Amino acid sequence: MSSERLYYTDAYLVEFDAVVRDVRRQNDRWNVILDRTAFYPTSGGQPFDIGTLGDANVVDVFDQEDGTIGHLVDRELETNSRVRGQVDWSRRFDHMQQHTGQHLLSATFERETSARTVSFHLGTSVSTIDLDKELAADQIARVEDAVNGVLWEDRDVCVTFVTASEAAKLPLRKDPAREGELRIIEIKDYDLSACGGTHVTRTGAVGVIAISGVERFKGGLRAEFVCGGRALRAYRSLKNSVGGSVRLLSVLPDDLPSAIEKLQTAGRNQQKSQEGLYERLAAHEAASLAASAERIGAVSAVIAAVSGWDANGLKKLAASIVARPATVAVLLTTESPMLVVVSRSQDLPLDAGAVLKSLVDQFGGRGGGKGAMAQGGGLAGEPRAILDAARAEISRQSQVDSR
Ligand SMILES: [Zn+2]
Repeated sequence: MSSERLYYTDAYLVEFDAVVRDVRRQNDRWNVILDRTAFYPTSGGQPFDIGTLGDANVVDVFDQEDGTIGHLVDRELETNSRVRGQVDWSRRFDHMQQHTGQHLLSATFERETSARTVSFHLGTSVSTIDLDKELAADQIARVEDAVNGVLWEDRDVCVTFVTASEAAKLPLRKDPAREGELRIIEIKDYDLSACGGTHVTRTGAVGVIAISGVERFKGGLRAEFVCGGRALRAYRSLKNSVGGSVRLLSVLPDDLPSAIEKLQTAGRNQQKSQEGLYERLAAHEAASLAASAERIGAVSAVIAAVSGWDANGLKKLAASIVARPATVAVLLTTESPMLVVVSRSQDLPLDAGAVLKSLVDQFGGRGGGKGAMAQGGGLAGEPRAILDAARAEISRQSQVDSR
């Protein structure tokens, strides 16, 4: 038993009648075998068709080992019944444009640059071919120009079937991967390939081919491309994003890169001057906090809640305070989430990490550090209670040290 593949000889056939040969239940779906079908099964880099069989929706189509084609449907069909199949044309035609475009693109890469196509993938928004060597930007532009020229010559794309020995005499672009009778796709006076996929009948129907991106891949090049309707949609999407950007920056599209560069430089300069101001502000506030330091044993301690500082600023502030000898600083921000920094001057043996850990143990949150500096965040509790706990831990440590 095998299924007659109607798409082999007519890729434009979207409606057909067939007899249901077999139906097998697969979980909540049914796998339907027909005597003939226009549905394309996933193969050769091209995805399956969708559509309907009678009232049932076709959700997957695949080649089976016995040569039949399986149609996965969402509703049970009766064996030996006649059924009308309808292939979703917009999806199929999109695949035909991309697939024919791939033949043309692969042939043109080989003609213009002698780069051979190693593999092809037809994706949902873009397709790729992998080439066996790297190419320069000007070579890629030349291929793009040449391949579109061939589209606009509107050459015939024909399907023929040949035996293996006939095929051996043909200048096929790639050695066929299968034995027996071969299906040959001929782009008139341009390319001959063995292929089981669906293609348009004239190159003009591909419309346009745009190489939308390239990247180095396995010692060669992966070229991403869009054909026909996809190229139009890609152009529209680019137009919208570029249009939005030029309106925001009030420049012409060609000036976008330099305008963005200018913005980035201005941003970096601003950040530098902000850092400088931040440091001066930290020194200033550190001096006023240090003036109200309390004594815990031999230690001068600044234990305070502050506001308006981010994590980085809080660290700068603490560092500026503990630049004084025999000083420890415990600072927490009053904003949510609460941030805490514990820092001490280099001449003290106090363990900042242990102070922070005792706070996290009592008030939650997380953080870490050791020796002279520790920081954390996400503590939950009254600032006053947290500061008292810090005070107690510093006092405990200084008593241990002085024993
Ligand atoms: Zn093909």
